[in-house]
Amino acid sequence: MGAANIEQDILDLKKSLQDAQSKGSTTTLLDLLRQLSKFTVTAALLRKTEMGLFVNKMKTHADNEVSRLAKDIVRNWKAQVTKEAASPSSTTSSSTTTTTTTVKAEVSKSGSSIKASSTTTTISSSSSSRPTVETKSSPAQIQSSSRDGSSAASSPRTPTDAGKDRTVRSDGIRVKTTGNDVRDRCIEMLYQALGTNSNAESERLLKKATNIESIVFKNLSPDGSPSQNYKAKIRSFFMNLRDRNNPMLREAVVSGDVKVEDFCEYTTQDMASAEAKARDRELQLQNMFAAKGAEPQQAETDMFKCGKCKGRKCRYYQMQTRSADEPMTTFVTCINCDNRWKFS
Ligand SMILES: [Zn+2]
Repeated sequence: MGAANIEQDILDLKKSLQDAQSKGSTTTLLDLLRQLSKFTVTAALLRKTEMGLFVNKMKTHADNEVSRLAKDIVRNWKAQVTKEAASPSSTTSSSTTTTTTTVKAEVSKSGSSIKASSTTTTISSSSSSRPTVETKSSPAQIQSSSRDGSSAASSPRTPTDAGKDRTVRSDGIRVKTTGNDVRDRCIEMLYQALGTNSNAESERLLKKATNIESIVFKNLSPDGSPSQNYKAKIRSFFMNLRDRNNPMLREAVVSGDVKVEDFCEYTTQDMASAEAKARDRELQLQNMFAAKGAEPQQAETDMFKCGKCKGRKCRYYQMQTRSADEPMTTFVTCINCDNRWKFS
């Protein structure tokens, strides 16, 4: 199958899907989506056909089966596009790899020692058939075909760093003692969780870990010694932050996009949905940005300064990318060097 053929096939499918959608024929819709799920896509292909956005919208379809299938496809495509971005030399990657990490943390009865262990399983699936990955997700752990849900702008990581764990010991960090062994160890656990797959400076990680621990302790240990609730909360944070399928939550906390004070209020459900929301939004932006960037008719301005070449000749457009009560997102392209950025 040549690239042009695939593109035409996808466009044909899109038309049939639109037909089935307007007729309200769920059976046909499901059948077409199943066909669609067998395609191997590239970012360029999604952009040209605008299929990413189209299927993304179907995630909220009234029929459960349709929305589930649409979610599967989007997740699978996202993985393919992410993988493509990570290895520009092989734009036609034919298989996706899913890594699922299960993390177990135990707090012993006496409360004096905390053990953490992790196991990683890797499932590979060929893109020519529907992946057999179990996609049911519990609130505590999001399953995703995308190991790295970060934006295309962030540096791609190779699978080899994924296995590396950063601990206070491996980073040679001295944790200032709180005077309590359990609390000190909790800080170390949070440090390890925040450092998963991270290139952030040790000091930043330690500061975040220390802040989180101190807020949780203040909120949940009224009598001044680590309570059961305190330990449960730290354990929940550890597991969710360390989850390799939740990179955006972790990055948001480390970068400060989510304030530590706010994060400490998060429930397990919040952590799961924060991740899902960030991922959906990123995919949507990625598709929209790429599609609109290809269009020549955008307003020219000298309002912005390009961070790359310092030029001021830019094209821009604005779009409502989130809910209506949030500010518009502005997409800017530098005419001189083609650098692109967005802000809201
Ligand atoms: Zn520029």
